[in-house]
Amino acid sequence: GYAFAVTDCLFCKIAAKEIPAEIVLETGRALAFRDINPQAPTHVLVVPKVHYENAAALAAADDGLADDLLSACHIVAVQEGVSESGYRVVFNTGTGAGQTVFHVHAHVLGGRSLQWPPG
Ligand code: 5GP
Ligand code: ZN
Repeated sequence: GYAFAVTDCLFCKIAAKEIPAEIVLETGRALAFRDINPQAPTHVLVVPKVHYENAAALAAADDGLADDLLSACHIVAVQEGVSESGYRVVFNTGTGAGQTVFHVHAHVLGGRSLQWPPG
């Protein structure tokens, strides 16, 4: 990761509270906020406060941050009331998988029935 916010990174700016977002959870190292274009009744993005391009870069860092992020996803699911009905945690990794914001983020989706495979 980077010790500073990456210039012109949308999610660095949201993490720094320079751009508003509807924050649902803040932990020491992670921030969770509602997706601006929700694909389900619950659609929350969970990001590390420091910048990694994608899940692969985050995993390679091997400093426990990926654990924190996954824990935050589950806390969000409990808060949102979807932990019993079921929810999905997705990292779109790379343009071929639909990644459009290159600051790693987990999508937490729930509150409706989710199809598998996602397409
Ligand atoms: P990706 O396609 O990279 O996996 O997901 C990016 C997500 O960020 C999309 O679901 C998109 O709706 C969301 N998004 C893009 N810009 C903003 C924004 O300014 N604020 C919030 N809250 N979400 C955003
Ligand atoms: Zn960033």
